[in-house]
Amino acid sequence: MTSLGAGIQVKDRPPLMKIPYNRDNLPKQLFINNELVDSKNPKKLEVRNPKDNSVLAADVALAGEADVDAAVDAAAAAFKTWRKTHPNVRRDCMLKLADLIEVNCDALAELTRISLGAPFSSFGSFEIGVCCEALRYFAGWTDKFPGEAYPQEDGFMKIVRNEPLGVTCGVIPWNGPLANSTMKAGPALATGNVFILKPSEKTPFSALALGPLIKEAGFPPGVFQILTGDGSTGALLANHMKVNKISFTGSTATGRRIQECAARSNLKRVTLELGGKSPAVVFDDCDFDNAVNWCANAITANTGQVCFAASRVYVQEGIYDRFVKAYKAAMEERAKGVGDPDEQTTTIGPLVDQGQFERVSGFLERGRSQGTLLTGGGRIGDKGWFVQPTVFENVAEDSEICKEEVFGPVAILNKFKTEEEIVAKANDTHYGLMAGVFTENITKALRVASDLESGMVGINAISMAFLTAPFGGSKTSGIGRENAIDALRMFTEKKTVFINMTKQ
Ligand code: NAP
Ligand code: MG
Repeated sequence: MTSLGAGIQVKDRPPLMKIPYNRDNLPKQLFINNELVDSKNPKKLEVRNPKDNSVLAADVALAGEADVDAAVDAAAAAFKTWRKTHPNVRRDCMLKLADLIEVNCDALAELTRISLGAPFSSFGSFEIGVCCEALRYFAGWTDKFPGEAYPQEDGFMKIVRNEPLGVTCGVIPWNGPLANSTMKAGPALATGNVFILKPSEKTPFSALALGPLIKEAGFPPGVFQILTGDGSTGALLANHMKVNKISFTGSTATGRRIQECAARSNLKRVTLELGGKSPAVVFDDCDFDNAVNWCANAITANTGQVCFAASRVYVQEGIYDRFVKAYKAAMEERAKGVGDPDEQTTTIGPLVDQGQFERVSGFLERGRSQGTLLTGGGRIGDKGWFVQPTVFENVAEDSEICKEEVFGPVAILNKFKTEEEIVAKANDTHYGLMAGVFTENITKALRVASDLESGMVGINAISMAFLTAPFGGSKTSGIGRENAIDALRMFTEKKTVFINMTKQ
């Protein structure tokens, strides 16, 4: 014991556990009821490395119906006690898990990198930072989400409790396997829910490696479980009668399917974080270098595989020609950072897999007839799924490349004259996730920010998210919000308890 002054003592803590996993020893089992178990489903997942398309494993667990039922039953049993657990205990489990993830940062980053292709120096380390901070942020909320009380002058005192939903699930995409995990698990666990994570079939390893860390952090069996699988596993969860909530991040098409499953089964609650086609609006009076920098970074980070990437860049006519030159140069500078994600100097890795590569290549091919190719436009090398950061200029507003989400390092660049014109163009999309306004005129910035139909708007910045502020989209970009107090609301339901105040 080490003394910390009068009356306060802390235990000397043993060193935090290190996971045994690496690319030669991959986690492949499900994590159910605090145990690593083989899937009962004989079908397995094959996972490849996008830098060379080599097979990393062909025997990763794919949770089928019996596996999903086992996890849901364990979760339902655990809910009975977890919901009544002292908030400080829930907090401490979450904080310890954050510490454990942090000390295992290198190993976890490698497990993500080998299947996602995200270099450590750019997205890899950032992602783990978000993963730990999300746990810590939500751990702080365990005892700070009070209910409400309403006047008793009508003879009844009303108390409103924020109650957990029960068995909740996170169905997440491949582009941020760790950050997405705790952005969902954090608010779920903090508010007394039990949680099942379903990572993407393309990036299962880092999520699976969390299993032993969850147990070590002190979470009781069944509270936080991990089921790897494919879309069929996600559908089993979305259709399950004992699952009360799905928090989903992914494509708009799959989000619709999840809503349908929820409606057809038990009307489970659904939060959707979906795609985008986010506009950056650059006015003549902007800080020029700042605007160029943000626009280039915002479409190349994580190889453009980011839901809120600035994929439509609109520049006012007074600075347009100058911007074209500078944006082209900035994208070509970023292109120099494309390479082997295992190299320290690489900042941009490959696309996640062959399917994504073929999808993006199709956009690159068809884009040539929809606008002028300013830079990029093709594959890099002949091995792995590397593509050039690409910009199409002077693109028809109704063309596919201007309307559809590419989910790769591909932007369009168009000119505009007036504020009215650009607000209409920016809003002419069924998406509404992110937007950016670049101007030194704060009145104009706030006016345009309020006119843009978007869940988030950056002023002199774009494509950012904060744990402390609501994150999510309008229109077909989503339903509900993550992060901040809003995430807690999405994992709880209000219960009104009323007390008869008349003297009996
Ligand atoms: P996706 O195909 O929709 O997959 C997302 C998750 O849903 C994966 O875990 C997937 O499993 C699962 N899934 C697939 N079919 C399902 C079904 N029928 N029922 C239930 N679950 C099912 O999306 P993605 O290709 O992984 O990610 C790219 C898309 O996600 C882009 O459109 C992007 O904009 C969007 N995204 C949005 C955000 C956001 O916060 N708004 C963040 C990241 C990505 P498998 O992968 O195992 O098949
Ligand atoms: Mg799939």
